[in-house]
Amino acid sequence: MRVPLNDPTEPTLPFEPYKVKVAERIPNPSREDRERALVRAGFNLFNLHSDEVRIDLLTDSGTGAMSDRQWAALMIGDESYAGSRNFARFESTVRSITGFRHILPTHQGRAAENLLFSTLCRPGNVVPNNMHFDTTRAHVLRNGGRPVNIAVRDAYDPQSDFPFKGNVDVPALDALLRREGRENVPLVMVTITNNTGGGQPVSLANFREVARTARAHGVPLYVDMCRWAENAYFVRERERGMRAKSIAEIGRAFFDLCDGATMSAKKDGLVNIGGFVATRDRSLAGRMKELLILYEGFPTYGGLARRDLEAMSVGLEEAMDLDYLTHRVEQVRYVAGLLDARAVPFFHPVGGHGIYLDVRRFLPHLSDEDLPGQALAVELYREGGLRTVEVGSIMFGPDKGSKSPPLELVRLAIPRRVYSASHLAFVADVVARVYERRADVRGLTMVYRPERLPHFTARFAPKRGASSRAPRAGRAAPRRKQTQ
Ligand SMILES: *Cc1c(COP(=O)(O)O)cnc(C)c1O
Repeated sequence: MRVPLNDPTEPTLPFEPYKVKVAERIPNPSREDRERALVRAGFNLFNLHSDEVRIDLLTDSGTGAMSDRQWAALMIGDESYAGSRNFARFESTVRSITGFRHILPTHQGRAAENLLFSTLCRPGNVVPNNMHFDTTRAHVLRNGGRPVNIAVRDAYDPQSDFPFKGNVDVPALDALLRREGRENVPLVMVTITNNTGGGQPVSLANFREVARTARAHGVPLYVDMCRWAENAYFVRERERGMRAKSIAEIGRAFFDLCDGATMSAKKDGLVNIGGFVATRDRSLAGRMKELLILYEGFPTYGGLARRDLEAMSVGLEEAMDLDYLTHRVEQVRYVAGLLDARAVPFFHPVGGHGIYLDVRRFLPHLSDEDLPGQALAVELYREGGLRTVEVGSIMFGPDKGSKSPPLELVRLAIPRRVYSASHLAFVADVVARVYERRADVRGLTMVYRPERLPHFTARFAPKRGASSRAPRAGRAAPRRKQTQ
């Protein structure tokens, strides 16, 4: 395996701005172990045991490493049912970052979505979002609403280098609001960064236009702020006049334009569990609080241990650190650089939290019915024990008979502060090896399809024989020696 060190043609090694204090062993399943695990898991990587995974890039959600300061924070948990001092600190931290008045802690992001959409969304409503994340979409649907994605056209072009592919198509938003009217649109939502579309940022200029449009129609604007600090990092890097501003200032410029937010602190909160919903609307906060008590717990803990709130307060602040954010984005670019050098197709430009492989270019011999994203994810596991996730026809696919979604991607999400540069070089090497023998990769069929969020629990089986459009390609590239 190559770990480029001093070769100027190779991507720069990202310098880890932290050192190791606790070591966690990385599992080392053999090829036979991996084959067995795939069969047991029904070729769904969500069903793997973590001991069967060498490098886990399934998600960056709640999988990060807490800092020594966060672990220390756990020790000052005040586990009072009501009025814990950890809640007071948490509330003031979130208020100072966002400026929102009413802060309701939840155990994670989807619980925040549940409170917001159960309260605001009625059957027949339309909810626009640059791109709905899977759980956001599911909550809109569960409340009888219709989720509509209105990202700019560049968002759907994996080759475009547009710097703000998370942007909202503002004329489309305006047209939608005109057509539906404020009675039928309970809120406009914008996801920063746009996870589903490749972790792409939204510019402040675009967000201002969105806010102006929503206000003109009298519709509240909410932001899904899971990766707000990464979004602010890109704004600082790419948007004119932003370089001198801090992450906190840029974030605040976004929050000042909207009415509230949902947050999964498992992302830019740097914790393993936690989230919140925040709003300026007092009456909405009151209604959500009733559901919070029903589903999560008393409003000063919201489904969490109080010590978790304390770790979240520290994490929310650490996530604004420029050294941390620079390294995070550099890690993603490092993998992208190594893949680029081996001509592996991925979604450009790379976003904040992972690399999204462009499956239609990676496996052109497979058709949508072959579930090529899932097939590629399975192959990356088989080759090197990597766990990744399909973001395409299974995660977002409409039911049988309709068209597949415009993007078919496999996401390699990078957990925060977990893997070193040599781990990432290994990842790139595994992906490149599968790319070299890509003609070998066969499609899958779904043998069990659950009704909601199918990617979590579906089961698959390999298609027999050659894949639909492939020449019998299996022998095209000689198999390299396996890394064990
Ligand atoms: C993770 C995520 C959510 C849901 O958060 P959970 O903590 O996983 O429930 C919502 N929106 C976006 C953009 C996310 O990335």
